[in-house]
Amino acid sequence: MLEVFDVAVVGAGPAGLAAAVHAADAGLGVALVDAGSQPGGQFWRHPDEAAAAANPDQFREGAGQHDWKRFTDLRTRLNRHRGAGRLVYLPGRQVWLIEPGGHGGAATLRLAPAVDVPGSDAAEPGQVRAAHVILCPGGYDRQLPVPGWDLPGVMAAGGAQALLKGNRTTAGTVAVIGGTGPFLLPVATGLAGAGVKVAAICEANSPTGWLGNLAGAVRAPEKAGEGLAYAAALARHRIPYKVRTAVTEIHGTDRVEAVTISRLSPDGSVLAGTGRRIACDLVALGWGFTAQLELVLAAGAQTAVDADGSLIAVVDNRMASSVPGISVAGEATGVGGAAMAVVEGELAALCVAAGAGAAETARPTAAQPELDRRIARLQRERARLREFALAMHRANPVPARWHGWLAPETLVCRCEEVDYGTLCRAHEELGADDARSLKSFARPGMGWCQGRVCGYATASIAADFASRPVSEADLRAMSKRTLAAPVSLGQLAALEFDDFDDISADKGSQE
Ligand SMILES: Cc1cc2nc3c(=O)[nH]c(=O)nc-3n(C[C@H](O)[C@H](O)[C@H](O)COP(=O)(O)OP(=O)(O)OC[C@H]3O[C@@H](n4cnc5c(N)ncnc54)[C@H](O)[C@@H]3O)c2cc1C
Repeated sequence: MLEVFDVAVVGAGPAGLAAAVHAADAGLGVALVDAGSQPGGQFWRHPDEAAAAANPDQFREGAGQHDWKRFTDLRTRLNRHRGAGRLVYLPGRQVWLIEPGGHGGAATLRLAPAVDVPGSDAAEPGQVRAAHVILCPGGYDRQLPVPGWDLPGVMAAGGAQALLKGNRTTAGTVAVIGGTGPFLLPVATGLAGAGVKVAAICEANSPTGWLGNLAGAVRAPEKAGEGLAYAAALARHRIPYKVRTAVTEIHGTDRVEAVTISRLSPDGSVLAGTGRRIACDLVALGWGFTAQLELVLAAGAQTAVDADGSLIAVVDNRMASSVPGISVAGEATGVGGAAMAVVEGELAALCVAAGAGAAETARPTAAQPELDRRIARLQRERARLREFALAMHRANPVPARWHGWLAPETLVCRCEEVDYGTLCRAHEELGADDARSLKSFARPGMGWCQGRVCGYATASIAADFASRPVSEADLRAMSKRTLAAPVSLGQLAALEFDDFDDISADKGSQE
């Protein structure tokens, strides 16, 4: 018989790490599954810890990180719980299928190896079962196509930053960074600090966008301090910050050689005659983030369109999804930054602990009145940070007329090589005016990445064809993936026989 954990947490980023540690603190038995090889997720991505320990001159722990002490505190507590046998940590494992348990039943997570990790607490677990699941899968960069974006040297802003944070590698020597939102700032200052010349940051919106959203902005005064620190860093590195400006074309033959940047009107239309060419060998683009929702959708949980136009999981103020036994925390419930993800992870864990304690089904938990007080405090903190996040989204929207930058031959779906002209024909000749029809008629989102890169753009183009805002149905059509991660045929075949390894049999290896 497989061991049934009290809680299984998916993702060891800020949300998942906080959820797992606080659930174990409260006395619950926890399994923490993460595709990454070490904890931290995107925000606390850092060089391989074993390599860093062997080369302390080359790698200074915490270099270039924010709020690093919070991470090391969580990591220390994680390791303490592992040592005490309260928590099983499974890095390098991707959850590719979730089967919710329903009311009172145990959910099953099917796992596939993502990377080879010596530090796992179980040798080859094929599945984890748990009374409650907390999904903390995070998000990834939202991309908009632009002519030339398929040239080598064009990257997601988060990709350029991941190389820097995780591998101490710079992806080019002269960079232009474009898109919208505050995330462009750490990417630019991180690259500049590593010796890359940042020729320009092109922010599609204007800081005046915050003026209409001051009520939310002032709820998080600490963010103003962060903004000032970035402004000082931009000045120190002499990085030009161009507002109402976008990268509207990328030039090169075998790789990026230059970009055209253009001034935009408030709706995102290009102002004629404002194009200017800048030489560069790295273009880093980011239009906010998209929540990673495969497992949320596979579980059958309710979704909604957030203020930034992204699909997110709907949760109540205890982080419970619409599916019994499944909570969601972090970016998957709405993009709001690492501090909010930590709050949501802790809140989700404490609510599960409080529920388990009340039902007297789990091991002893922290005292109920104390849990209730902490839950109320976290709910207030989440509401405060969420208001700031909403203000941020409203101040940094994807420009409504971005489609005007596209040429008929601009690739929208790079996997299936579907260009904008093909989508226009699917609309004009076949009547496609929603994302699902575009996908069926022209195949965007049907390739290797399954719409992770082109999904938002295709949904937005469909909405533009129909002269309406992007709908939840458009976004869901581009986000549903039967399997959350690639698996071998052997693993699929094994489903039939239900012949999986019992991870509890392997657990002894950690002690
Ligand atoms: C590339 C990138 C860089 C970023 N850098 C910054 C930054 O510098 N500053 C900033 O303020 N914000 C940054 N962000 C935003 C940042 O993601 C969040 O603020 C914060 O990390 C969110 O925490 P999280 O726990 O919700 O998600 P994440 O940190 O994204 O963690 C999610 C974890 O879940 C794992 N996972 C996902 N799906 C599965 C699965 N099926 N099976 C197993 N594991 C899974 C992932 O491997 C990951 O470790 C970045 C985002 C991205 C995408």
